[in-house]
Amino acid sequence: MKPYPVNLVSVIIPVYNEEASLAELLMRTETACSQLPQPYEIILVDDGSRDRSPALLKEAALAPGSHVVAVMLNRNYGQHAAILAGFEHAQGDVVITLDADLQNPPEEIPRLARQAALGYDVVGTVRERRQDSAWRRWPSRVINWAVKRSTGVAMNDYGCMLRAYRRHIVDAMLACRERSTFIPILANSFSRHTCEINVAHAEREHGESKYSPMRLINLMFDLITCMTTTPLRLLSIAGAALASAGFLFAVLLMIMRLALGAAWAGNGMFVLFAVLFMFSGVQLLGMGLLGEYLGRTYNDVRARPRFFIESIHRAPLGNASTATPRLIAHRSALES
Ligand code: UDP
Ligand code: MG
Repeated sequence: MKPYPVNLVSVIIPVYNEEASLAELLMRTETACSQLPQPYEIILVDDGSRDRSPALLKEAALAPGSHVVAVMLNRNYGQHAAILAGFEHAQGDVVITLDADLQNPPEEIPRLARQAALGYDVVGTVRERRQDSAWRRWPSRVINWAVKRSTGVAMNDYGCMLRAYRRHIVDAMLACRERSTFIPILANSFSRHTCEINVAHAEREHGESKYSPMRLINLMFDLITCMTTTPLRLLSIAGAALASAGFLFAVLLMIMRLALGAAWAGNGMFVLFAVLFMFSGVQLLGMGLLGEYLGRTYNDVRARPRFFIESIHRAPLGNASTATPRLIAHRSALES
């Protein structure tokens, strides 16, 4: 593993109705970033918020000398799409993502950047003493286990979005055109050296988690279908096993009927019903899973854009105190 020269660090934060935590978030992120030896940019992606978040972001971006770039999406596309929109505008050699709700401490940014500079492609984090309710904790344990089993990439915590990615990993992710995706797993599928560091995890102070049970289920499907088609194979195996069991059961019933007479078989009706229900259940489950993959294939074939950016706000070039030549060139290209 070779050390990796870092000339610019980009921080990406997706924001969805987070007006209450934005002021503190911006202050703490600025303070943390100012300790970086490299220049930095802070890209805040507004994911169609309905509160005052867009106005606050715009204000922060337009302040003289601001490092903030505000990317406004025209509606809510979800956390991962918002982060991808941020990736598209990030210029850094290392790109760090974190949540806007201050559950991930921005103070860890310099540590993540240092770790990436050592040559790790992806730096993940493990939440110490996780401050989430049990019904949020258990699904993510199942997810971690499933990811480990099916991708062979061993990381302990995929749910924590405080992560650092090197430039080539970000470029690889941007080249992926699938619509539903789960960034930490997508990143791992392109990386060679990964590491994880322990970070603190705070309770959400303002507002509510943006993931309702329904959205979590959706995320779970994104996650499963983005990494593997194993469930499809498992389905055939389970189907074959059940069919054989059903056949043997039918033979057994027939023998019992011959041995014990028709009265016994009448009572056996209910067993048949049970078997029928079992089969229909498995069939439905299978069809649902097939539908999941088909639906996603359909979406990918349509290749619709994952998001539309409404506007981008940043401080005028002359004021950017730490603009690097690369950043200046990029901005001039954008403005011309
Ligand atoms: N988020 C987003 N779009 C969404 C949902 C969430 O940009 O549709 C952002 C949200 O503002 C926060 C981050 O994604 O910065 C994580 O969301 P949340 O804290 O609700 O998730 P949890 O911590 O419960 O997993
Ligand atoms: Mg959160």
